[in-house]
Amino acid sequence: ASDSEEKDLVIIGGGVAGYVAAIKAGQAGLKVACIEKRGSLGGTCLNVGCIPSKSLLNNSHLYHQILHDTKQRGIEVEGVSVNLKQMMKAKETSVSGLTKGIEFLFKKNNVEYIKGTGAFQDEHTVAVNLIDGGETTVRAKNIFISTGSEATPFPGLTIDEKKVITSTGAIALQEVPKKMVVIGGGIIGLEMGSVWSRLGAEVTVVEFLGQIGGPGMDAEIAKMTQKMLTKQGMKFKLNTKVTAGDDSGEGVKVNVEAAKGGKEEVLDADVVLVAIGRRPYTAGLGLDNIGLETDERGRIVIDQEYRTKIPHIRAIGDVTFGPMLAHKAEEEAVAAVEYLTKGYGHVNYGAIPSVMYTHPEVAWVGQNEQELKAAGVKYKVGTFPFSANSRAKTNLDTEGIVKFISDANTDRILGIHIVGPNAGEMIAEGTLALEYGASSEGKADHSSNRLEKREADRAADVARTSHAHPTLSEAFKEAAMATYDKAIHY
Ligand code: FAD
Ligand code: NAD
Repeated sequence: ASDSEEKDLVIIGGGVAGYVAAIKAGQAGLKVACIEKRGSLGGTCLNVGCIPSKSLLNNSHLYHQILHDTKQRGIEVEGVSVNLKQMMKAKETSVSGLTKGIEFLFKKNNVEYIKGTGAFQDEHTVAVNLIDGGETTVRAKNIFISTGSEATPFPGLTIDEKKVITSTGAIALQEVPKKMVVIGGGIIGLEMGSVWSRLGAEVTVVEFLGQIGGPGMDAEIAKMTQKMLTKQGMKFKLNTKVTAGDDSGEGVKVNVEAAKGGKEEVLDADVVLVAIGRRPYTAGLGLDNIGLETDERGRIVIDQEYRTKIPHIRAIGDVTFGPMLAHKAEEEAVAAVEYLTKGYGHVNYGAIPSVMYTHPEVAWVGQNEQELKAAGVKYKVGTFPFSANSRAKTNLDTEGIVKFISDANTDRILGIHIVGPNAGEMIAEGTLALEYGASSEGKADHSSNRLEKREADRAADVARTSHAHPTLSEAFKEAAMATYDKAIHY
């Protein structure tokens, strides 16, 4: 269909990276086409990731709260039960509304949507195996690769998305399993483990490292979070590795042993969730045909402007370096198009927030204490507990803290870590502060070094910014205060 005209830009993969780049390029007046093989736009995030998981997290939380947290609020409820079919339907409604919304935005911005699987024929030509049958080729001056990522499999266990599942199976189970073993205590393990634990499954999370949440999470916050999730009923085996699995019987047997070797144990489960990370996806893309290679972790190698060694071919999102996050993919998409159309772009990789949507939520931006210690940076810490925050107390939702980390000399903010109600919304203020080079207070009279003083004076002040009362964000302000002085309410 598209053989005749050459495009300014062809994008392979219509996930967050790809669809955002397509819209941005359309807005800039480029002739652009986006190839997607799924039959639906939005990629992992909208179809089987961020959106469906958050729908289930929200609704399973409501159910859990109704069961366990109404009496003290003066609300008597009876006969509460889960209608899993309807909960899944609500999830599907959110997903289809959003994915169709992107099709609408494509039309609005003159993006051609090609439904099929793309593969490089040569450096300027992509062959497309169309979903509806047949083939076509598209020629382009520029090509973006945004083919995303896939779940890393666990050797010895065959993923059937029913008994041995990835996150894709975990958002679509048809009944609540009795026993679920989660391999990997990272974000997916904890989010999806939370969903099924709240709905009644006995969930055991096996994590190789000594802390949950993956390496980015501050160790103190991870410890507190683990306590809270344990209180909700989840079980944890840290410093433990899964050595083998057997899915030949009715259920699944999982062999685990201490990470450093030693004590062995066999865990029985109805369902095993494999959540040990994701890896870039480039299968069938024909990279060989154009001589493009991936690194040892399967990532497409790029320069600062997202160019591969073939300069008119760029790669963005999960398929290349950096955290596998939707908002990171989105930033890169905008920047890559701007490099193409204007010659410059901006992504600050030091100020990309992370949020884990459990209850309470965990959110952070910048560096954590263990990273700063390892780098030998001198820092100071200010914390404020939600148990001393008026709004959290009013809401009877007081678990968690805000933790500020600032440079010991300049007061400049280095990292902000929150576990608590609405942490995911609150971290936006922290991200803005970090992006602006703000400091906790912003006064440098405690420094005798003129350069440091100027650095700190230039910056904005979190602790000296008025925060509305009563809001959870006052905990944010008071944690900033506590880095150089005492908080008022604690
Ligand atoms: P993808 O979204 O994976 O999109 C790539 C697209 O390319 C896919 O649709 C694929 O079908 C298509 N494709 C691949 N090869 C071809 C080809 N040859 N031809 C045509 N099309 C092709 N991130 C967050 O920031 N917040 C969250 O809350 C969050 N929750 C998540 C929950 C889960 C369960 C999972 C798995 C991930 C979650 N993520 C979250 C991560 C987020 O989904 C990814 O970072 C994001 O989707 C990356 O976007 P992308 O466009 O690079 O890749
Ligand atoms: P992850 O890297 O966050 O966590 C994987 C965990 O598994 C790590 O803690 C690791 O130590 C552990 N592990 C690895 N091998 C193991 C083994 N053999 N035995 C026991 N533990 C083992 O990966 P994930 O949770 O699979 O998530 C994948 C990606 O999706 C991440 O990059 C994440 O950022 C993204 N994601 C983000 C969100 C969000 O932003 N809310 C939600 C879901 C997924």
